[in-house]
Amino acid sequence: MKKALKSISAVERAQISREWIGSLSNEDPLDYALLWQIGIVVIAILIIILIWNASLRREVKRRKSVERKLIISQMLAETAQAEAEAANAAKSNFLANMSHEIRTPLNAIIGFSDAMLAGVGGQVENLKHKEYLSDISNSGTHLSTVINDILDLSKIEAGKWRLEECQFLLNGCLTEAIKMLTAQAEGKNISVLYSPKPINSSLKIFGDLNAIKRIFINLLSNAIKYTPHGGKVECMIEKKRNGQVDVAFIDNGIGIPKDRLEQVQNPFEQSHEDHDLNEEGTGLGLPIVKNLIELHDGKFTLISEIKEGTQAIITFPTKRVIG
Ligand code: ATP
Ligand code: MG
Repeated sequence: MKKALKSISAVERAQISREWIGSLSNEDPLDYALLWQIGIVVIAILIIILIWNASLRREVKRRKSVERKLIISQMLAETAQAEAEAANAAKSNFLANMSHEIRTPLNAIIGFSDAMLAGVGGQVENLKHKEYLSDISNSGTHLSTVINDILDLSKIEAGKWRLEECQFLLNGCLTEAIKMLTAQAEGKNISVLYSPKPINSSLKIFGDLNAIKRIFINLLSNAIKYTPHGGKVECMIEKKRNGQVDVAFIDNGIGIPKDRLEQVQNPFEQSHEDHDLNEEGTGLGLPIVKNLIELHDGKFTLISEIKEGTQAIITFPTKRVIG
């Protein structure tokens, strides 16, 4: 053995140790490269985490500010609603109080002027005085109608209107409404046409008779009011296949501009710029019609062509139709 070792010459030993050192010095650069790569990856991950963290913070901040804005707007909306409700309650109270305060003296004005005209307590001889009394009575009656309309509409809008429901003949109700406006129509030489179909004569409605009659009177008086002398108004009852019933008032009057058809159904809205065309009115008739028929779960439709005429249609739902 010793001989074998000795057989490796000094030159060979030097050669082996050089190779060994060489191999050691070759491994060093490989490790650094790996370390660099790991380092770069770690730094990249850190940067990504930092960016992600920053954007997360930004998002949280944004959401918080949106939430804050939402809460503020919600609070503002609640305040506005509370204010609106308070204003509405104040309006209702005001109207309820004023209702009594206005109606009582107004009834006295109308009542006493009528009594004097009728000669209660002595005849009024002076013709001028008679004319004044008649004007007082007419103005009082008109004011009373307007006040009643305002009060009724605010009652309906406040959801306090109660329907007094019963079964009634639709044909009878419409005929009575037409009779009430005959004088008005004759005054303008307007023919009001209504030929009841025998098939509809037994048609009954379950609803508030006075409310429905009021709807008919409002629509018919509009048809007469907004139709020139010598014009024509037609009334119709039509039972549809789906069981609903339409009552239509068709005139050949001045018509309503298309862009005003929606507005005229709102309180105090009139359709014509020209005051004369609006005749004498307050703009409460149609909103009352719309609200009253909607209380019956029905529908109000207004179709019109300017200078050609208007169709105002009331639709009763099937559940309100009997027979
Ligand atoms: P009030 O009915 O309160 O006495 P009014 O008749 O002016 O007043 P609404 O019945 O609400 O009020 O009608 C609103 C407006 O719609 C009227 O002023 C009128 O301009 C228009 N209008 C309603 N019906 C007709 C119709 N048949 N033909 C033409 N215009 C109409
Ligand atoms: Mg009217």
